[in-house]
Amino acid sequence: MLAEEITNGLYVIPVGVVNIFLIDSPDGCALIDTGFPGSADKILQAVGELGKKASDIRHILLTHAHPDHIGSLAVLKQATGAQAYVHPLDHKIASSGKGFRPIRPAPSLMNRILFRIFINPDKPPKIEATTVEHVVQNGDHLPVAGGLKAIHTPGHSGGHLVYLWPQHGGVLIAGDTCQNIMGLNWSLGYEDFAAGQRSLGQIAQLNFEIACFGHGKAILKDASAQFKKKWG
Ligand SMILES: [Zn+2]
Ligand SMILES: [Zn+2]
Repeated sequence: MLAEEITNGLYVIPVGVVNIFLIDSPDGCALIDTGFPGSADKILQAVGELGKKASDIRHILLTHAHPDHIGSLAVLKQATGAQAYVHPLDHKIASSGKGFRPIRPAPSLMNRILFRIFINPDKPPKIEATTVEHVVQNGDHLPVAGGLKAIHTPGHSGGHLVYLWPQHGGVLIAGDTCQNIMGLNWSLGYEDFAAGQRSLGQIAQLNFEIACFGHGKAILKDASAQFKKKWG
């Protein structure tokens, strides 16, 4: 199985170093993020293994428009017919596949080394342009998966959104506001580190049981306590 169940109705599909999430609900499935270019086959195979058809994917939510999150959006939209969602500040990048803003490593030597390996901002891959139908503002409640709240959390990317799914005690889709590769920590890079710190302080005010990350393992229990300890 390519997909792993995180909790009832929520799956992670790891493709290389990036996590893509699938929420299954009676009103259609939602994917969150799309991986680097070339990830679509693996994602669709995972969807098939879960007993779903490509056309069961109705929505594709983007946490932000970086190459590892929007890379397979065009191909997945074509294969599924799903509508795409992004924050207005990342809309132009998500729909054109280019124009990435400068990003700098988070403090610490380890971050600088990992940043070079994983992000390599000087050489973004070629990304196909596509249509992104919906712009999502801070606080919007999306009619997706029984209702999802979007929260604007700039810093890693100007138009970064986290999504809060108020089921199972609260599930935070944290995107790249932070990562959980070797424990909960700063993301490897930020467009604006001070804004990223403020966003994490804001996330630490929320209550959620489960946290899912673009990079690293999900936290399955009492997740917001870990955020409060680190950034509250
Ligand atoms: Zn990113
Ligand atoms: Zn990422």
